[in-house]
Amino acid sequence: MTTPIVEMDGDEMTRILWQWIKDILIKPYVHLKTEYYDLGLPNRDRTDDAVTVESAEATKKYGVAVKCATITPNAQRVEEYKLKKMWKSPNGTIRRILDGTVFRAPILVKGIIPYIPGWTKPIVLARHAYGDIYNSIEDRTKAGEKAYLVVCDKDGNELRRQLIHGFEGDGIVQGVHNLDASVSAFARSCFNFALENNLPVWMGAKDTISKTYDHRFKDIFNEIYDKEYKAKFEKAGLYFMYTLIDDVVARVMRSDGGMLWVCKNYDGDVMSDMVATAYGSLGMMSSVLVSPDGKYEYEAAHGTVTRHYYKHLNGEETSTNAVATIWAWTGALAKRGELDGNYELTQFAKRLERATIQTIEEGYMTGDLIPLFRREGVTVHKLNSKEFLLAIAQRL
Ligand code: NAP
Ligand code: MG
Repeated sequence: MTTPIVEMDGDEMTRILWQWIKDILIKPYVHLKTEYYDLGLPNRDRTDDAVTVESAEATKKYGVAVKCATITPNAQRVEEYKLKKMWKSPNGTIRRILDGTVFRAPILVKGIIPYIPGWTKPIVLARHAYGDIYNSIEDRTKAGEKAYLVVCDKDGNELRRQLIHGFEGDGIVQGVHNLDASVSAFARSCFNFALENNLPVWMGAKDTISKTYDHRFKDIFNEIYDKEYKAKFEKAGLYFMYTLIDDVVARVMRSDGGMLWVCKNYDGDVMSDMVATAYGSLGMMSSVLVSPDGKYEYEAAHGTVTRHYYKHLNGEETSTNAVATIWAWTGALAKRGELDGNYELTQFAKRLERATIQTIEEGYMTGDLIPLFRREGVTVHKLNSKEFLLAIAQRL
């Protein structure tokens, strides 16, 4: 390797897996060059969270990062780790700095049948991670009150006023927003990702009901597609389809997968859990943050697997699935290889993925996959966290 990968270490059980993956599956084969940032909660606290910002800045510089799952502190964690304060979600901080979109894709193996048996190809989901109800203002209203939508100029002079509702009884009201710039960046990230991964793009919103707000999403996507991407998509034999969100849901259910499903913020929040569950296990869901200017941060979609970590600390054996974390590494290595013209590195990443899939398909897996796996003529073996990595190394 010539250019480093930004390495963001993390917390709990995934931090244990992180070290093992490097020692067992990567360092013996790759002259690994990383710029290391310890995003484990104790070090975030020690550095007043500066380490998170520095790691995101480094990602801007080098273009490729691999991230371990990290604790997002809540009140209980502040107590447990004796924190100076309740630090923000590192993923949120990194996403804000890179202005990125998160793409999640299931890792498919023979023997694990999705709950929707027709989904034979991965459904990759893109969630717009800005605005709507996630940055909203809400209020409870009393009988007799009126709520208005008021827009002012920069000096506070009222420009427009619409009655939202005159309340005869008690009720609720909400104000949400989004930005043309954010939706446009989202659209470009999605179209770029689709071209790179050879996927058609399906997008849905509720423009028939929300004739201004959701319609703006539709218009921005259509404009950017027509102007900047249509020719490239047609050349690649791909397409972009916008239709109502209800229609997209119905079409996805009947499909065999193999598309990029672009979701507004709330739809993506809900649908990503449905899609992940339908494909089997959280341990088999990969995730990548892509910025509009082509910076990549790879990670597992799951968290730090706290319950397993406390078993591990007690000296008990754990059977934690490392596949999604391995995919974070292979994603980053393959992308580094691609950007640097380092063919061998990209090939190594693909070999590691194949060895991992082969291990499971031959019946060697962690406990979470056992109830999902059925394959004729294959005997199932439950391995502990480390044995699974060693079984992959054998095949690698
Ligand atoms: P989690 O770590 O994803 O684990 C939830 C449960 O899902 C586990 O207890 C386990 O079930 C199962 N599971 C998840 N990943 C697995 C794997 N690789 N192998 C086997 N089983 C797996 O979610 P959480 O417990 O809600 O959150 C724990 C911490 O992670 C929190 O502090 C949260 O802030 C953080 N988090 C971080 C990220 C991120 O960095 N991207 C994302 C989500 C959560 P069983 O216990 O039944 O075996
Ligand atoms: Mg959700």
